[in-house]
Amino acid sequence: MIVDGRSALVVDPGDAAPVSAACAAQGLDLCGILVTHHHHDHVGGIAGLCAGRAIPVWGPAREDIPGRTVALDDGARVQVPGIALAFTVLAVPGHTLGHIAYYAEPADADPLLLCGDTLFSAGCGRLFEGTPQHMHASLQRLAALPEATRVYCAHEYTLSNLQFAARVEPGNAALRRHAAWCAQRMDAQQPTLPSTIGTELRINPFLRVDAQEVRASLSGHCGRAPRDAVDAFALLRRWKDDV
Ligand SMILES: [Zn+2]
Repeated sequence: MIVDGRSALVVDPGDAAPVSAACAAQGLDLCGILVTHHHHDHVGGIAGLCAGRAIPVWGPAREDIPGRTVALDDGARVQVPGIALAFTVLAVPGHTLGHIAYYAEPADADPLLLCGDTLFSAGCGRLFEGTPQHMHASLQRLAALPEATRVYCAHEYTLSNLQFAARVEPGNAALRRHAAWCAQRMDAQQPTLPSTIGTELRINPFLRVDAQEVRASLSGHCGRAPRDAVDAFALLRRWKDDV
């Protein structure tokens, strides 16, 4: 949820009840819904939140989004009434074919990225519809954003992702430091998110398929050297799927 004064914007509401409860508790008016892709855990709350009121629902043009009022393609701009933030739409196919992400550069804060199930901290989404080529290109696109960009993933799978990442890059000191920090956060019942693009560039094996240790681990696990970056990404995704 993004709050500006009394206005609230929610992203990927899988369930209406906690959103309604948060708005009621904080005296907020829901002024819009952003959707990244069509999976039920991202759209299941739209009907309930829109019942009896007209609020705009932005979502990917290439997917069937219940209640969508504005269909978005790559490069579109989104201005949510009541929220002093303008988003740019990035097409990031791979997890689903029409998946989009939202990127904003606030005047007084670091950029922020709402990336749904494309990029997770220390991991990435499964390839339900797209190819390794799609997902690798989408992740490269996100990796090219400014390092300070705050990354708001749709799920917190950080600790289990870090366990896999440590198997792929046991020699990555930044990864070990980040894992220790995340474990402390979880012990204190605090989220490990948002991450940043800079952190992900240093710890996320799916953004590091050209790193020497990642390539060596893939060769060892798969019994052959990856042909190129896309092949390395495909082998890494398959390895994680089987864990
Ligand atoms: Zn999904």
